[in-house]
Amino acid sequence: MKAKKKDIRALTKEQLRSFFVEEGEKAFRGNQVYEWLWNKGAHSFDDMTNVSKQTRTMLEENFVINHIRVDQMQKSSDGTIKNAVRLHDGLVVESVLIPTPTRTTACVSSQVGCSLDCKFCATARLKRMRNLNPDEIYDQVVAIDNESRLYHNRPLSNIVFMGMGEPLMNYKNVIAAIDKITSEEGLGMSPKRITLSTSGIPKMIKKMADDEVRFKLAVSLHSAIDDVRTHIMPFNETFPLAQLREALEYWYEKTKSRITYEYVVWKGINDKREDIDALVRFCGYVPCKVNLIEYNPIDDGEFQQAPTHAIENYIKQLENKGIVVNVRRSRGKDIDAACGQLANKQE
Ligand code: SAH
Repeated sequence: MKAKKKDIRALTKEQLRSFFVEEGEKAFRGNQVYEWLWNKGAHSFDDMTNVSKQTRTMLEENFVINHIRVDQMQKSSDGTIKNAVRLHDGLVVESVLIPTPTRTTACVSSQVGCSLDCKFCATARLKRMRNLNPDEIYDQVVAIDNESRLYHNRPLSNIVFMGMGEPLMNYKNVIAAIDKITSEEGLGMSPKRITLSTSGIPKMIKKMADDEVRFKLAVSLHSAIDDVRTHIMPFNETFPLAQLREALEYWYEKTKSRITYEYVVWKGINDKREDIDALVRFCGYVPCKVNLIEYNPIDDGEFQQAPTHAIENYIKQLENKGIVVNVRRSRGKDIDAACGQLANKQE
């Protein structure tokens, strides 16, 4: 039986160059093909018009080009677009385009499902099926960039890794995708416009700092009290706040890049004075800002958005200490595209 064809986009440029040399061709063919695959988004070898028919056939015999397919696109009344993205093996992830007057942000997935168990998140109810490959992450961004040009007459301006999955549990592939997104051969996007959001895995935060990454870091904090955080994000038992704090201090020392804490205020869960005091204290450890996110209900009675005055208490106390706070309104709620609502409902 013939060996299974390899995904050509799993190869680095160097590997592709070496492949051509082994086949008795010039190394620069590797550059040409690489450009077709990444810069020009070719879906078939026949698209590669400056490559000879013979070479294209040879590539066809050895490789496949795996591509994602946007199976379904839903548009929200607020302009948000949600893509259901079909992967080559039939699994589905979701990504979201979020337009504002000044920017277009892509919210992309890093895993199919999620292995973490945040009680308030719809994705946590899906089993983690597998990690996404670098090209599957990259393709989500390209698809949203195209939609941004088509529907908003401008290219994509920002990317957040806040879709399905925990990016730091798929570190290698997320980094490879970001390398491609930021390289001139890919989308040439500045890393400053990319934010990786993590539930907070201390060891991997330190690894990122050691790797001197240049994108921004957001941490889904939601509580600065261990008992409370463990109740709503059970993995906090394994990675308690003291370890998270230490990792974030390390991150800041190495990168000098301010951290964003994402925080939802829930009625009866983290809306008390002691919750606010704990957050204020936690914010004193490392330069940061706080994004207060609106809760997007996921049919779980335990969680309800706290009333406005509770949010205002948070804002007042944080601002008193000179901490920057933003209140983030949800987008795309009517199509289940908001934070924590990505759950392949249409499947
Ligand atoms: N695993 C990563 C990224 C995915 S979640 C992380 O935890 O950061 C993206 C953001 O949505 C996180 O801040 C998460 O805490 C938040 N979120 C999850 N469920 C939510 C919900 N139902 N309402 C509002 N925000 C939610």
